[in-house]
Amino acid sequence: MRNKGKYKVPKAHAVWPILWRTAVFLTVIALIIAVLHILAEYVRDFRSEADREYVRTIATAADTGSPEERQDKLNILEQDNHAYCIIDLDGNIIESSGAVTIAAYNDKAGKFSTSSLHDILDEADVKEKEIDNIKTHVMEAAANSTFLVDDYETSTEALKDAYAIARNNPHLLDGSDNAVLTFPYWIAAPMIESQQIMFVRSELTVKIKDYTYLAAGIIIAVIICTFVFVLMIVSVIMNLSANRKLRKWLFRDTIVKGHNWLWYAVNSQDILYKRRNAHKTYAVVELVFIRYRSFVLCHSVKEAEDLLRQVVSIIARKLKKGELIAHSTSSAIPLLLEVTGEDEAKARLLDIIRTLEAIPCGHKLAFRAGVCLITPAQEKLILKQKRYIPDIDVLYNNACTAGLSIADTGDSGVAFFDNKLVDEEKWIDTVTSRQQTAVNNEEFLVYYQPKYSPSTNELMGTEALIRWNTPDMGLVSPYKFIPIFEDNGFITHIDDYMLTHVARDQRKWLNEGRKCVPVSVNVSRAHFGQEDLAEHICSIIDGEGCPRSLLEIELTESAFFDDENALITTINRLKSFGFLVSMDDFGSGYSSLNSLKDMPLDILKLDAGFFRGSDDNPRTQIVVSEAIKLAKSLKMMTVAEGVEDKATVDFLATEGCDMIQGYYYAKPMSREEYENTVIPVPEAQQPQTAETKPVQPQTAETEPVQPQTDQSNAGNS
Ligand code: C2E
Ligand code: MG
Ligand code: MG
Repeated sequence: MRNKGKYKVPKAHAVWPILWRTAVFLTVIALIIAVLHILAEYVRDFRSEADREYVRTIATAADTGSPEERQDKLNILEQDNHAYCIIDLDGNIIESSGAVTIAAYNDKAGKFSTSSLHDILDEADVKEKEIDNIKTHVMEAAANSTFLVDDYETSTEALKDAYAIARNNPHLLDGSDNAVLTFPYWIAAPMIESQQIMFVRSELTVKIKDYTYLAAGIIIAVIICTFVFVLMIVSVIMNLSANRKLRKWLFRDTIVKGHNWLWYAVNSQDILYKRRNAHKTYAVVELVFIRYRSFVLCHSVKEAEDLLRQVVSIIARKLKKGELIAHSTSSAIPLLLEVTGEDEAKARLLDIIRTLEAIPCGHKLAFRAGVCLITPAQEKLILKQKRYIPDIDVLYNNACTAGLSIADTGDSGVAFFDNKLVDEEKWIDTVTSRQQTAVNNEEFLVYYQPKYSPSTNELMGTEALIRWNTPDMGLVSPYKFIPIFEDNGFITHIDDYMLTHVARDQRKWLNEGRKCVPVSVNVSRAHFGQEDLAEHICSIIDGEGCPRSLLEIELTESAFFDDENALITTINRLKSFGFLVSMDDFGSGYSSLNSLKDMPLDILKLDAGFFRGSDDNPRTQIVVSEAIKLAKSLKMMTVAEGVEDKATVDFLATEGCDMIQGYYYAKPMSREEYENTVIPVPEAQQPQTAETKPVQPQTAETEPVQPQTDQSNAGNS
C-alpha cells in the first residue's frame, strides 16, 4: 500500500501565494474606500438636514403657489446665493440660475439623460420596477422627500485643494485656524403639482484641519497596507528561493555530485503516477556495481568514487529525456527508463553494462541490473485504485530482488522481477520463521534409504534423509528447505538433530536385536568450519550410546573447496574416533580428483547423474568403471546412488561396485517401515525385550534381500 506523503518534499510555488496576497491587499483597499464613502455620505446626510428642510419648503411653496409666488420663492434662492434648476420628467431644464454642475447633468445635450434620472431616483430609493414607469410614478415615489445629488466638482477637486492648502499652510493643522473647505452638492426636491424636480445647490463645509488629518490617515493606512503587501511578496520570493536551495541540498548526492535516492523516489513517483503517463511502460532498475568493495580495497576510496562518478555520467548520457538516474547506497544506481517492453529494457541495459565494463581502470568491472517493469495495464490499475498503489520503494525493492536472483558469480547480468520471486522470498521467510518451532515439535523426521551389495543383494548400509512433516503442508522435501538452512546457518542444528536421532535409533535397534548397519548422515559443508566438529559429533553419538562404527559422515563434494587443511584434520579426527567418512555426490560437477589423494576417505558415493538416462552410453560406463577402480586403488569402498534399473545393477556388480543406493532396491522410507521391512526383529529374539538384552553391532548379514521394485513413493517428494 502506498505510504501517502512519504516522498512528498514540499515545493514552494510563486503564482498562487502572490495571487492570493494581491487579492487580500486589493480587498483591504476596497474596504477602506467603501468605509470612507459610507462615512462621507453619512456626514453629508447628517449635516445637510437644515438645508434640505429649507429647499423642501421653497419647492412646495413654488409648486403649490401662483406663478408670482413661485417666482418669489425662486428669487429667495437667488438672494441666498443658491444656484438652482428645475427639470421636467423628460430631463429638460425648465428654469435655472447659476451653473448647473449636477454630476448627472449632460452639459452637451442640455438635459438629464434617462439613465441619469435613474441614478438620481436610485439615490431616492425608488425601486427598480418603478423606474421603468418613471413618468407616472416618480413623483409619488419621491413625494415628501428630498434627496442629495453629487456635484461633479466635489471629491477629487476638493481633495486636491485641501491637500495643496494643507501643504502650503502647515499652521492650518494646529487647530487654531478655522479655515474650511467647501464641498458642493445638490438637493433635489420633487414638485408634485407641476410634475417637476427642483435642484438647489448647497455646500458642505469641512475644517481643513479635520479634512487633512482624515486624508493623512487614509494615506498612512494605504501606505501601511502597501508596505505589508510588499513584505508579503518579498517573503514569498524569499521562501521560494530558500525552498529551491533546500531541495537542491536535500536531493544532492555528494559522492557522484548528482542526485540521490530521495530525488529519485520523489521524481519517479511523480512520473509513474501521472495520468498522462498511464499508456507508457517504465522500468524501475537497480544497477549495481558488483564487487565495488573489493575495488575500494584494491584501489582507494577516492578512485572508487571517481569511477562511480564516471559510471553515472556515462549512463546519464545514454538516457532519454524524462528518464532518471541517481546514486543510492554505495554501489547502487537507481534508474527509471521508459521502454517499450522487456526486450528493449534488456537490450538497453546490456548496452549500458557493456559500455561500463569497457571503462579502462585496470580492474575487471561487472554490473548487474535488477528490473521491475510497470506496464500500462498495471499503471491503469494503479491509477484506478489510487489508494492502493505500490510505493516506489516496493517497486524498487522488486527490482533489487530481481537483481539478487542473478547467480553470485561476479559476472554481469540483467534479471527481471516476476511474482515467482515473491513466492520464493515468502517461502524462505516461512521456513526461517518456523525452523526452531519445527525442531522443538520434532516435526523433522528421519527417513532411511538402504544400500545393498549388487553382487549379493545383502544390506550393507543405510542413508538417513530428512523430511519435514509440517502440520499444514504435509511432507516437505529436503530440496525445499536444506538450501535455506544452509544459507541462514540453521543447518548445523539440523545436522545435530539428525545425528542425535540416528544414534538414538541405532541404539534402540541394537537393543532390539535388529540388524544394524552403518547409517550415513549428511553433514553440511557449513558445519566443517567448526574446529571441534569431530569432538562435537563424538559427544552426540556417545551421548546416545551408539557405537561410533555404526555412524558414517557424508560430506558433499562441494565441501572440498573450502579450507583443505582444516577438512583433512577433521576427517582424520573423525576416523581416529572410529567413524566412517564418505564423499557424497562424487562427479556431480565439482570433482577434484586431486582432493582424493589427500583425503583419507572410506567411501566414495558416485553421483546419481552417472546413472540417469544414458545407461547404454559407453563413455559413461568407462568413467564409472575407472572411478570404481580408482576408489579401489585408494582403498575406498564405492556406493552408486540413484540406480533404478537391473541393467545398471548388473553392470555395477561386474565392475565391483560395493553398494547400491537407489529405487531399484528401495526408496527412502519412514523409520517404522524401515524397521518392519528392512531390519525386522529376528524371530529367535522376538520374545526378548530391547531393554533387557542389548545386542552388539552387526555389520554384515548372510541373507541377501530381494530387490524391491514396487516400493511406495511415500516420503520421496
Ligand atoms: P543426497 O545426500 O545425495 O541424497 C540422495 C538423494 O537421492 C535423496 O533425495 C534420495 O531420495 C535420492 N535418491 C536415492 N535413490 C534414488 C533413485 O534411484 N532415483 C532418484 N530419482 N532419486 C534417488 P532426498 O532425500 O530428497 O535428499 C536430497 C538431498 O538433500 C540429499 O542429497 C542431501 O544433499 C540433502 N539432505 C537430505 N537429508 C539431509 C540431512 O539430514 N542433512 C543435510 N545436511 N542434508 C540432507
Ligand atoms: Mg547424501
Ligand atoms: Mg548424494
